[in-house]
Amino acid sequence: MNDDIPYNKAFDLVAGRASEVAPGVRALVANNPGPFTFKGTVSYIIGRGQVAILDPGPEDEAHVAALLDAVRGESVNAIFVTHTHRDHSPATRKIKAATGATVYAQGPHRAARPLHIGEAAQLDASADMAFRPDVTLADQQTVTGKGWTMEALATPGHTANHMAYALHEANLIFSGDHVMAWSTPIVAPPDGAMGDYMASLTKLAQRSEPIYLPGHGGPVNNAPRFVQSYIRHRKAREASILHRLDKGAADIPTLVRAIYIGLDPRLIGAAGLSVLAHLEDLVARGVVATDGAPTIGGVYRLAELPRPAA
Ligand SMILES: [Zn+2]
Repeated sequence: MNDDIPYNKAFDLVAGRASEVAPGVRALVANNPGPFTFKGTVSYIIGRGQVAILDPGPEDEAHVAALLDAVRGESVNAIFVTHTHRDHSPATRKIKAATGATVYAQGPHRAARPLHIGEAAQLDASADMAFRPDVTLADQQTVTGKGWTMEALATPGHTANHMAYALHEANLIFSGDHVMAWSTPIVAPPDGAMGDYMASLTKLAQRSEPIYLPGHGGPVNNAPRFVQSYIRHRKAREASILHRLDKGAADIPTLVRAIYIGLDPRLIGAAGLSVLAHLEDLVARGVVATDGAPTIGGVYRLAELPRPAA
């Protein structure tokens, strides 16, 4: 399909070496590149002397050692977690053990809706089910340290517990996996929910911070406009699904073939889940119908429009 998002895949961080990416913000990339993680998960160190760490990253000894090395001689007072996928939160335990920092997040991992048969195993594979924050954050709650103020922004959609964080002093947002410059994120049930995701995009589009620092890849520039392009992209994908269903009922593999041209074969499963996320939202809105609850194996059709009352 026609991509209207001004992607930027520039990325010059090297695993193991922290570098300053914004005033008072250092970034350190983990060595876990892949189709979902791009060049690897980016952890951030905020402040100087008494610092916060955002997204300690995957269970990876070398990355934990590099993070602790980067803050040697400083005290780590806070750890913020954007969400509980295995590439973002598992190193929290070791960083907390080494530093005594307080862990802040929206909450433990949870699905966006009740599970269907077989989905529990899928959730287990991608999520850090053991994660527990010391302090749970509500939307717009602020946490302050020496020289930094972090405002939690509830941004469910990629996961139900996703939080972005605005750093007031630098006028930027740590956007986690919600908004990234290199790609759109996976929004896959049961972790993710498309209706929530769109609402969270609309929420960020109303803010003015020009720069986002995401969980993967380099900074997002002109962020409010970039978020608008994300919203248009998802609406275009929804239109493609409806266009295909207008020709007749279809299952998810048929829809994926119709919508994603030239897709990396490693991403076909994820694309199916992304289409399912759209279909769940369309069924909830009464635009699309299926028999029973929307599932990955279901057949979907346009809903009959209600007839006007006589
Ligand atoms: Zn994620």
